[in-house]
Amino acid sequence: MSKSQTILDLSECIKLARELDILGDYEKALSKYQTALNLVTQRKSEVSDSSLKENWGQVETLINNEIKMTQEALKFAQTFQNNDETRLERAKQEEIRNQNLMRNNQEQKNEIQYDPKWERFGGMRPFEIWEKDEPEDPKERDPDVWSPPKVKPNNRGFNRGRLVNYDPNAAAKAQAGKGQNPKGKDTGKKGGKEEEDRKKGKSAFYLHYYPNGEGPDGELIEMIEREVMERSPNVKFDDIAELEEAKITLKEAVLLPLLMPDFFRGVRRPWKGVLLYGPPGTGKTLLAKALATQGKTTFFSVSPTTFASKWKGESEKLVRILFEMARFYAPSTVFIDEVDALGQKRGDGDNEASRKVLAEMLVQMDGVSGKLDQEDLSVEELKKNIVMVMGATNLPWDLDEALRRRFEKKVYIPLPNSVGRREMFRINTKGLEVAKNIDWDRLVLKTEGYSGADIANICREASLITMREILKRTGGRIDFTLIRDHPSFVMKQLQAPVTQSNFDEAVKYIPSSVSQSEVKKYEQFRDEYSNK
Ligand code: ADP
Repeated sequence: MSKSQTILDLSECIKLARELDILGDYEKALSKYQTALNLVTQRKSEVSDSSLKENWGQVETLINNEIKMTQEALKFAQTFQNNDETRLERAKQEEIRNQNLMRNNQEQKNEIQYDPKWERFGGMRPFEIWEKDEPEDPKERDPDVWSPPKVKPNNRGFNRGRLVNYDPNAAAKAQAGKGQNPKGKDTGKKGGKEEEDRKKGKSAFYLHYYPNGEGPDGELIEMIEREVMERSPNVKFDDIAELEEAKITLKEAVLLPLLMPDFFRGVRRPWKGVLLYGPPGTGKTLLAKALATQGKTTFFSVSPTTFASKWKGESEKLVRILFEMARFYAPSTVFIDEVDALGQKRGDGDNEASRKVLAEMLVQMDGVSGKLDQEDLSVEELKKNIVMVMGATNLPWDLDEALRRRFEKKVYIPLPNSVGRREMFRINTKGLEVAKNIDWDRLVLKTEGYSGADIANICREASLITMREILKRTGGRIDFTLIRDHPSFVMKQLQAPVTQSNFDEAVKYIPSSVSQSEVKKYEQFRDEYSNK
């Protein structure tokens, strides 16, 4: 057979086999793959050039891999076929849709032009089918085959890396070399294409802070915008079970001043800070997010333990820029989780640095409320200056004395009562298939003393127990290849209603995370500080 005829037949065969694979007709797909394999083996025996022989050998391996995956899929499908024909059929249909979507997406993503060099591999795009077998050693890779599609550089010119990569001194070092002042305003390079390029992709706040599009804290600003700021956290009060008293207090303390800034002037000025305290996992963060969503404020969420470890010695700068940004994007909510950790001495003995952060926080909180005290501000100006500071803590007694005073309003967020727990079961089983005969009252009774996070964990665990039971019925074997290649098909097979015994087992497995003595401690704090 001629080379071109082999390639044509091969392409056709592989295409057909894959389509049959997607349609779930694994038996027919296998027969097509076999024909393709025969063609390749024959062609390999015909060519004499050793490098061509090797290439055909690679094609052979790849087809064999696809055959193996199809055989696995066939086996897996057969284990379910006897149990539930219709479910399998539905799963297959869904799988087809997903596979088609994935392929379309992949094709758009790759945006790669056909390269005639690939002719020698039967006209197939190498990266598309050989990704899985790419040699680990780059030297062993054929550059024609293994060179990845080119990625367009991000127009901000830096990787969207995580906080870990942030070097607080990097920008300053770079700047020192250029002889620019810290605010980056007098470079003498105003105007021109260079400046235009620098400004491209920079946020409004960045350009407000560094009008020429560059400065030593640029990276820090972009990081805060990326990691700390959320335009709208999209949490509704209805997503939060019960806590009616806290919701009313918070709406009055936080939402009304946003809606009627003019009314909340002088003696009625908004609280300097609102503290949510109580056992962990009771909805403090959810409440802060719901307030930010409903009040349409820009939401900034930070935790001192995170930023202290990432910005050693620079944390107070982070606090300063954070508040400056919050004022710029006002009305805003600055939410500080684990606020008790502010100003505390940490394990590394860097007490001086943590005191500096605390001092900066106190200054900023005073600054925010001081601005709102100005009587000559118009309503519009007032709105533009509203920055609500909210803190959350599980250890209110550890809070620094001066900081505690700044949090003028303190709201206790207790463990959920029976109404709250029932509601939490409802919220957390929303997307789950649950048996019709669940005795919810019994579960609510059994979970007395549990937090919202504990109940979320119980629901998660109960649904996983269901999955494990199904896996056990299929021999307990986890087929990672099938999961990787046909995720939604496998997902469908593993779904079954969560039963009462699954929930009972999960409750036994997950103890409540808060003890009675801890609850007493919170109540003592409430009695002592609620109005102080
Ligand atoms: P924390 O009080 O520690 O800030 P979170 O607000 O982060 O707790 O809640 C942790 C998780 O617990 C939430 O993601 C949610 O699943 C669940 N949860 C806690 N309280 C509630 C509640 N009142 N309503 C609904 N879910 C809740």
